[in-house]
Amino acid sequence: MTDAIDYQEIFREIVSGFTDADDRGDVAAYIPELVKIDPRKLGIHLTTVEQIHYSFGDSDEKFSIQSIAKVLSLTLALKILGKDIWTRVGVEPSGSAFNSLVQLEYEKGIPRNPFINAGAIVVCDILVSCLTDPKVELLEFIRETSGIPTIDYCSTVAESEKRMGFRNIALVNFMKDFGNIHNDADLVLDLYFHLCSIEMSCKELVQAFLFLAADGINPVTKTTVINSQRSKRINSLMQMCGFYDEAGEFAFRVGLPGKSGVGGGIVAVHPGKFCIAVWSPKLNENGNSHKGMKVLEEVTTKTKFSIF
Ligand code: GLU
Repeated sequence: MTDAIDYQEIFREIVSGFTDADDRGDVAAYIPELVKIDPRKLGIHLTTVEQIHYSFGDSDEKFSIQSIAKVLSLTLALKILGKDIWTRVGVEPSGSAFNSLVQLEYEKGIPRNPFINAGAIVVCDILVSCLTDPKVELLEFIRETSGIPTIDYCSTVAESEKRMGFRNIALVNFMKDFGNIHNDADLVLDLYFHLCSIEMSCKELVQAFLFLAADGINPVTKTTVINSQRSKRINSLMQMCGFYDEAGEFAFRVGLPGKSGVGGGIVAVHPGKFCIAVWSPKLNENGNSHKGMKVLEEVTTKTKFSIF
């Protein structure tokens, strides 16, 4: 049972303590559609494993979850392929940028982990191999996992990424040359760009990720999303690799497994206790939401609920 804490009051205290110095960073500019987002947005939502909800600000507004979705595609691929997935993608932090090509050259086309772009593209390749209609079936899985039938791709964001996705195009072709992409590169990228375009609110994100706080079981429907050992592995990967090359800083300041996206969202999990999502579009120099990290740092400091 989670200790009775008034998270709502904690969110209010944290946000009212923000100063001009906290209003730093820039909205992601390399995906043209994302530049249009109002940088002042701020949403927070926390749900405990006992299903108590706490919201703040723009927590019901949908935004582009971007790389956060890579956790859900990994979950589906792991469910389908099991441990064989680890012959195609590693489980180590990369220590380099999320879209870097450098490591792939000397590691022979095997990406360091499933959350950098190259790793998520290999996961998409696996889904293209295993599913009949990958875009439809991936979306169905996410809708089922979250219990929210309205979750959808945003075709304008997917198109926008496709037009500017030169690095991702390079990554998929580079890995194909090493034999680690088995399908047509355009087909794999189409799934990848759609995956990144998924929109959810903070509240919906928490619903979709709550199984990782409950040993792989959706606490609402009581259905098993993934077994507890794999749920543990996904949380471990988020802890080590969920924040581009700032995963160490996030662990140091926040102390929870989590995943961020360049849309300004961060989702974090306290296994056995809660799942929390924060959205604030201005990113720091490492591509993580500046205020999002600050909110989460203060939540775990004030409640003493980090995993360490
Ligand atoms: N769709 C983005 C890209 O491939 C993902 C960025 C992110 O959120 O890390 O560049």
